[in-house]
Amino acid sequence: MILLSGLRVREKIVEELKSVIASNKQKPKLSVIQVGENYDSDVYIKQKIKFGKEIGVETLHIKLPEDISEENVLLEIKKLNEDESISGIIVQLPLPKNINARVVLDFISPQKDVDGLGSFQVGKFYSGEKSFISATAKGIISLLNYYSIDLFGKNVVVVGRSNLVGKPISYLCLQKDATVTICHSKTKDLPDKTKKADILIVACGVPKMINQDFVKKDQVVVDVGIHRTESGLCGDVDFEDVKDIVYAITPVPGGVGPLTVTSLFQNVVDAKLSL
Ligand code: NDP
Repeated sequence: MILLSGLRVREKIVEELKSVIASNKQKPKLSVIQVGENYDSDVYIKQKIKFGKEIGVETLHIKLPEDISEENVLLEIKKLNEDESISGIIVQLPLPKNINARVVLDFISPQKDVDGLGSFQVGKFYSGEKSFISATAKGIISLLNYYSIDLFGKNVVVVGRSNLVGKPISYLCLQKDATVTICHSKTKDLPDKTKKADILIVACGVPKMINQDFVKKDQVVVDVGIHRTESGLCGDVDFEDVKDIVYAITPVPGGVGPLTVTSLFQNVVDAKLSL
C-alpha cells in the first residue's frame, strides 16, 4: 500500500511559495474576519497565522463581537476591500445566526476572495474559468498530481456533495477528464458505487464510515474527513480496515488536512500577484 502523504506535498509547496514571496517586493497580506467565539474557528485561524509566518505572509486577525450587526460586518469588509495592503480576505465560517453568510461572502471584493466562496468566484469556477479554487479541493488535486495519479478517463467516486468539498472536487475531477459519480446520504447501495471507483474521494463527515465493504483492490482512496475522538484523530475512512486492500490511501492526520491551509495561501499569493 502506498501512503499518500500530504506533509510531503506541503513541504514542496512551502518551498515554492517562499521563493515566489521572496522574489516579490510587495508582500501578500491576508485578513481573517472572525465573528463571535468558536473553538474550532480559533484552531483554524491559529493554523493560518502560523502557516503565514512560516512562508512570510502577514495575517491580520479581526475578531468581531458575537452580537455585531450584519451591516457593521459589511463595513469592516468594505475597509479591507479598499485597503491596498490587503491581498486576501476570508470570513471564518460559521457566522452567528443573525448574519447572512451569503450576503457577507458576496460583499468581499472578488479579487480578494481567496476562499473562493463568493458568488462571483463560484460562478467563474463552475464555468471553467480561472478562479480562486476552494482550498480543500485544490489540495486534493495537488496531492494527486504530486503522486502522478492521473485522472484522465478514470472512474472517480466522490462521497459527499457539500459546497465546500464534495461539489468542487467533483468538478475539478470532471475538468481533468475523469468520469465522476457523486454520492450522498440518499444514495442507494453506496458500496456498489464506491467499489466501482478507480479513485474514491470521501468527504461525508461520518467517522470511519468507509470500511472494507466499500473498497476494492487497486483503488486510490482520498480521505478528506477529520474527527477528534477519544482515541485521537480519525477520518471518514476506517484506515486500519482498508489499508491492506487498497493500492494507495491518505492517512489522517497527515493526508488532505495539511494541504487545505497550503492551498489557501497559494490563492493569497496569486491574489497579490494579480492585483
Ligand atoms: P458536510 O457535512 O457539509 O457534507 C457531508 C456530505 O456527506 C453531504 O453531502 C452528505 O449528504 C454526505 N453524507 C453524510 N452522511 C452520508 C452517508 N451516510 N452516506 C453517504 N453520504 C453521506 O461536510 P463537509 O463536506 O464540509 O466535510 C466533509 C468531511 O471533511 C468532514 O469530516 C470534515 O470535517 C472534513 N473536512 C476536512 C477538511 C480538511 O482540511 N481536511 C476541510 C473541510 C472538511 P447530503 O448532502 O445528502 O446531506
